[in-house]
Amino acid sequence: MARYREAVCRLCRREGAKLFLKGDRCYKPSCPIEKRGTQPPGQHGNSMRRGKALVGYGQQLREKQKVKRIYFVLEGQFRNYFERAARLKGITGENLLILLERRLDNAVYRGGFATSRRQARQLVNHGHIEVNGRKVDIPSFQVKTGDQIAVRESSRAISHVEGAWSTAAGRGRPSWVQPGDGEMSVRIGTLPVRDDIDRSINEQLIVELYSK
Ligand code: SF4
Repeated sequence: MARYREAVCRLCRREGAKLFLKGDRCYKPSCPIEKRGTQPPGQHGNSMRRGKALVGYGQQLREKQKVKRIYFVLEGQFRNYFERAARLKGITGENLLILLERRLDNAVYRGGFATSRRQARQLVNHGHIEVNGRKVDIPSFQVKTGDQIAVRESSRAISHVEGAWSTAAGRGRPSWVQPGDGEMSVRIGTLPVRDDIDRSINEQLIVELYSK
């Protein structure tokens, strides 16, 4: 599996926004963005950005990088999502975000089984998650309305899964993720819509970038 090797908090500082990549720490005052603000990483971070508001291509590129990092997908995968979104009916930018939101690793995170998408991806990769009673270990698997997502019985005692599940209500769940029928399970009540997804994302910038 390809991975980002950069320290994840640097990615948030690079994008000037909280990307929630590190689990519990993201919700605590020890989050570097909470402590130091959005100063870019590096000795000259402040001076590099001072007085230079991003415009045009630079702004489009940064928005694409931000969304890629939020969902923890690599360039090629991201481009594939965009091409798929462009072929669907509706607004391409919204389609793109909804396809990303429907990834199984994201649904596992949104459901509260993990405190970050990175942790959720590990749970899926390691075979701890089942969909409609069958093990699914493909993080990019697209969930659909009615799917039941659960932690497999043999994995329910894993301490970080128990911890994430017990604090999930505090982090909040989107309305498209509803209580499931069994223990440690959720159900996809409806497909996510644009209003369920971070309003600070300007997906139109990504569409403009890829439409050049
Ligand atoms: Fe980003 Fe979380 Fe690190 Fe804060 S703690 S900078 S939100 S990854």
